[in-house]
Amino acid sequence: MRKRVAAEIGGAGRAECPECGATWVAGVDRRSNAVYCSRRCVTRAWRARKESFGERSQ
Ligand SMILES: [Zn+2]
Repeated sequence: MRKRVAAEIGGAGRAECPECGATWVAGVDRRSNAVYCSRRCVTRAWRARKESFGERSQ
């Protein structure tokens, strides 16, 4: 709990999910190298990227 507060005050590792906009404290709530908030967002972003890539190549 104290670690989380310190990280938030320091502003270190503030991360935002590019898919749904959720925020978390990297290194506390999630891994410091996490990009998306959840596996669901990882899959959704991956799917959207794949679909747009398919449209472009046609
Ligand atoms: Zn998300």
